[in-house]
Amino acid sequence: MVATSGPEAVVIGAGVSGLTTAVRLAEAGIRVQVIAARPPSRTTSALAGASWGPYMVVDQRVPRWSDTTLGEFARLPADGSCGVRFVRGIEASPDAVDPPDWATALRDYRLCDSSELPERFQVGWWHTIPLIDMPVYLGYLTGRLERAGVAVRQLAGPLRSFGEVDLPGVLINCTGLGARELTGDHQLTASRGQLVVVDNPGVDWFFQDDAEAGDLTYFLPHGDHVVLGGISVPHDPAHGLEPDPDVEKGIIERCAAIEPRLAGARVRERRVGLRPNRAPGIRLEPELIEGRMVIHNYGHSGCGVTLSWGCAEEVLSLLRGL
Ligand SMILES: Cc1cc2nc3c(=O)[nH]c(=O)nc-3n(C[C@H](O)[C@H](O)[C@H](O)COP(=O)(O)OP(=O)(O)OC[C@H]3O[C@@H](n4cnc5c(N)ncnc54)[C@H](O)[C@@H]3O)c2cc1C
Repeated sequence: MVATSGPEAVVIGAGVSGLTTAVRLAEAGIRVQVIAARPPSRTTSALAGASWGPYMVVDQRVPRWSDTTLGEFARLPADGSCGVRFVRGIEASPDAVDPPDWATALRDYRLCDSSELPERFQVGWWHTIPLIDMPVYLGYLTGRLERAGVAVRQLAGPLRSFGEVDLPGVLINCTGLGARELTGDHQLTASRGQLVVVDNPGVDWFFQDDAEAGDLTYFLPHGDHVVLGGISVPHDPAHGLEPDPDVEKGIIERCAAIEPRLAGARVRERRVGLRPNRAPGIRLEPELIEGRMVIHNYGHSGCGVTLSWGCAEEVLSLLRGL
């Protein structure tokens, strides 16, 4: 569908937040342009694991936004051609916690019996959730956007101010961690993540622990490959973005202790990415900056894929209300 009327918008950013927002607006008939310093394949979003789940973010709007995304994922083809597959697996905790309410409402939910729980875990539950193969999914979103008549325009470099945008329309700020410099928001900090992608030795279930900081343990199958994670630690810029071999060894050992077939799997890719953490929560609100209306949509921490469609919907209603 090519938009013909209504308000205009310029989405800044081509990660999962920017692309999803642009798709939502374009399909609602709004004239949209997308500009970004980096193309979708070179964003933080392309590095995510990724699983659907409201983790690593405290914000009362999260349940509503993640539910909206879950509904959108359920409408995609089930064969993984868009990068999204519904997979059954276990989430577990080393502590005697109650499963979160959002988990108990999911398809196939049931508590694990003790024989199903890996060593060092006290509680676990089965459920079926979307796993998202991000490089494929971002390609799908880009294609859907193109079908709506919108292409991503790559800039020569990051914008230093909103005043540099010479296109008409409300600005939608989906710059992830880049918003720290662009808006001067020092509540935004980087949490470092590291993943290992291996050939899939036949794993058809996922596992993840409920840790949100330090060492994390998860494996997420995406057809012919499995993403293993991970860590979440404050990022020290002095360390750069090279994968740490000791961290990788720990990730593989922790995952192989739960799924032994992963022990010798061939490593095909290594990923290091920075989650956009924001202490007071996600920033999704309008702001008038030097006479220009900006709607911010950034700071999704380790949950940006999970929240993407809910946040896009919220941007649409804010835009319509302006
Ligand atoms: C290792 C790892 C694992 C993760 N796992 C999950 C998971 O399982 N589930 C989940 O839901 N989330 C997960 N996340 C979190 C998720 O990846 C992020 O929340 C999400 O990618 C943020 O997307 P975004 O579009 O806001 O930002 P980004 O993907 O960073 O995109 C930002 C865009 O803005 C552009 N930009 C930035 N600054 C400027 C500027 N000044 N001018 C112009 N353009 C600019 C960039 O070039 C880019 O195009 C994970 C993250 C990591 C690192």
